[in-house]
Amino acid sequence: MADYDLVIRGGTVVTAADTYRADVGVRDGRIAAVGEQLEGVETLDAGGLYVMPGGVDTHCHIEQLRPNGKADEESFATGSTACLAGGTTSVVTFAAQFKGHGIRDTLAEYHRRAKQAMVDYSFHQIITDPSDTVVREEIPEVVASGVRSLKVFLTYEPSHLDDREFIRVLAAARRTGALVTVHCENYEAIRWRTAALMADGRSAPKYHSWSRPKVVEREATYRAIALAEMVDQPIQVFHVSCPEVAQEIARAQARGLKVWAETCPQYFVLGAADMDRPGFEGAKFMCSPSPRDKATSDALWDDVRRGTLDVVSSDHSGSSYEGEGGKRIHGNNAPFPDIPNGVPGLTTRLPLVFSEGVVKGRIDLNTYVRLIATNPAKLFGLYPRKGTIAPGADADVVLWDPGKRVTITNDLMQHTIDYTPYEGMEVTGWPVATVKGGRVAMRDGKVQAEPGTGRFLPRAPYDLIKPTGNLPDGFDASAFA
Ligand code: MN
Ligand code: MN
Repeated sequence: MADYDLVIRGGTVVTAADTYRADVGVRDGRIAAVGEQLEGVETLDAGGLYVMPGGVDTHCHIEQLRPNGKADEESFATGSTACLAGGTTSVVTFAAQFKGHGIRDTLAEYHRRAKQAMVDYSFHQIITDPSDTVVREEIPEVVASGVRSLKVFLTYEPSHLDDREFIRVLAAARRTGALVTVHCENYEAIRWRTAALMADGRSAPKYHSWSRPKVVEREATYRAIALAEMVDQPIQVFHVSCPEVAQEIARAQARGLKVWAETCPQYFVLGAADMDRPGFEGAKFMCSPSPRDKATSDALWDDVRRGTLDVVSSDHSGSSYEGEGGKRIHGNNAPFPDIPNGVPGLTTRLPLVFSEGVVKGRIDLNTYVRLIATNPAKLFGLYPRKGTIAPGADADVVLWDPGKRVTITNDLMQHTIDYTPYEGMEVTGWPVATVKGGRVAMRDGKVQAEPGTGRFLPRAPYDLIKPTGNLPDGFDASAFA
C-alpha cells in the first residue's frame, strides 16, 4: 500500500551537508520521509539523477512597476515558467517605492499581481523616499506583514539614497527586525565619470563599464558596511562583481559584523568586453555593477570558496532587445546612460553555477546547493521550509542530470525576454524535472503548472538577522530617529 502521494525514487539526494542514495516521499505537498523503498501513488524515477532542493532566487525583478505606470515585461506567470524550467521554485522579488509616494498601497498592487505566480514568492520592499510617515508608520506595518527585508540603492537616478536617508532606513530596519539589502555603487562618482565620457563623445554601450569602475563599487560597499556598523543593523550586499569588493566584506565579517553578500552568474561568465560587441549588441550585456574580465571572474570563485560570498542570485532584470521598453527604446545609437540596464537569468542561474562551479571543479556539490538554495533560504527567513530536503520541508525539488550537455538558446529560457546573454554557451548539467509543492511542475523542459499555484511566503522574525547589540558608546540612536 502506498504511504505517499509521490515518491522520487532511486536518486542521489544532495543537501547543503550530505550526498546519499535515498527515496524521497511526499505527502500533502511536503516531504514526509527520506528513506529506502518508499511506495507512492505516483513515482518519479530519479535513477542517475541528483535530487536537490528547488532553487531559491532571492534577487530577481519580476513584474516590477516603473515610474511611468507600466510594469516589467516579465510577468509573474512568465517569470514562474522560466524559474520552473531552470529548477527554481521560490523567489524574492521587489516591491518598488516611487519618490513622494508611500509603500503600503503599492505593496497591495504587487500582491495582486503575484496571484498569477507558479513559484512561491516573497518581496523585498524598495525604499527610495524614507519620509517620516514611511519610516515611522509604513515600514513597521509592511515588515509585520511578512516582508522582512528592505532594499536600498546607493546609486541610480532617481532611486539613490544619500547617507542620511540610508541611515534612516537602517534604523527603521533595526527597530522592526528586517534585513537591509544594498546596491553598492557611488552615485556622484558615476555621474561625474558619465558626464566626462559624454563630453568626450564616448557614449557606446562599452562605456557603461568605464562609467563605473571597481573602485566605485568598493567605496560604496565600505560606506554601506560602516554605516550599518554604526547603526548595528545587519545587511546583505547585492551583486558583488569583484574580489576587491569581496575584500571589504571579508574584513567586516572578520570583525564580527553581520554582513553577507551575494554574487550572480553574470559575474562568472560575462565581461566588459561583451559590451564592446559590434553594433548595438553590447547593450544585451549591460548590467550594474558591470561585469569585469576573466581574471576577475576566476578570482571571484576564491571568495565563494572562502564563504565571503555565500549566495548566488540571478538579479534577473530583463528588458528585451527589441520592442517597447526594450534595450533599443531610444534607438540604435542611444548613449549608454539611456539604455535600460539589466540582464535576464532566471532559467540559467542553476545550470551556469553548476557547470562553471561543480563540473569545473571549483566547488563541491554541497557548496553548490548552499549557494543556490540553502543559504538564500536561511538568510531571508525561509529555512527549513525552503532550501533543504528533509521531513517537514515543502516538497520543492529539482531532479538534475549532471552529465547532460546543453547549448543555451533563448527558446530554452521560457521567459518573455527576446534574448539571453548566454546564447550559444555550452553547459554540462541541466534540470530534467522540477517538483513544486509536491507536484511535478516541469518535466523535460515542459512546464505544467497552473497560474495561481504559487503562494506568498510571509517571513516571521528569525534569529540570524538580529542585531549584534554592539553599539558605539552603548547608545541606541535608532530608537530616536
Ligand atoms: Mn542592483
Ligand atoms: Mn537587482
